[in-house]
Amino acid sequence: MIRVLLVEDDDTIAQGLRYALEQEGYCLTAAATAAEGLRALREQPPFGLLLLDLGLPDGSGFEVCRAARRAGDVPVIFLTARDDELNTVMGLDMGADDYVTKPFRIRELQSRIRAVLRRRAGATATVLPGGVRVDLKKAEVTRGGEPVALSALEYRLLLVFLAHPGQVLSRSQLLGGVFDEGGSFVNDNTLTVYIKRLRAKLETPDGPALIATVRGLGYRLEV
Ligand code: CA
Repeated sequence: MIRVLLVEDDDTIAQGLRYALEQEGYCLTAAATAAEGLRALREQPPFGLLLLDLGLPDGSGFEVCRAARRAGDVPVIFLTARDDELNTVMGLDMGADDYVTKPFRIRELQSRIRAVLRRRAGATATVLPGGVRVDLKKAEVTRGGEPVALSALEYRLLLVFLAHPGQVLSRSQLLGGVFDEGGSFVNDNTLTVYIKRLRAKLETPDGPALIATVRGLGYRLEV
């Protein structure tokens, strides 16, 4: 049974999640403050998944994430408020596995949880439309069995997309996930160029679109 630590100060959300996740066979420990969450990490380990609200009365879900990551590698999904976009970008940057924006449907969170756990369980390759295959262990990409040479930055950009399949990512979310070789943020124009290059390398001219432009919102990896 997978033990889940939920740190969430909104009692309605916490109760709804407890019911839904226990129905699915998870064993849930709930904490309402960052301090309680940190205590649960110390006193009741190990957890197989953390669900962390970012806005907590005594701090942020980031603190709990940081503490958990110091103690070991555990999947983390952030529960963020709509106005937390900047925080979300930081969260992805910190290595959160995924996030959901409130208000979310429990079904949506459940499918994210399953996806994160499946990925973590050693899914080492992802197959995308157009015969594109990404081997995450070897950091190798092939199209129709032929190797595709991606630069480090193109590969990192692809990984950001792969962490959120089928989900629209804003330019700022993508920018938050990729750094250039010198470790500085990639600028907006460069992002456009890299998306163009990724498309040119991964899509066939008459094949399906792999990275869709969602006008006014951002980009989406088709799955
Ligand atoms: Ca909150």
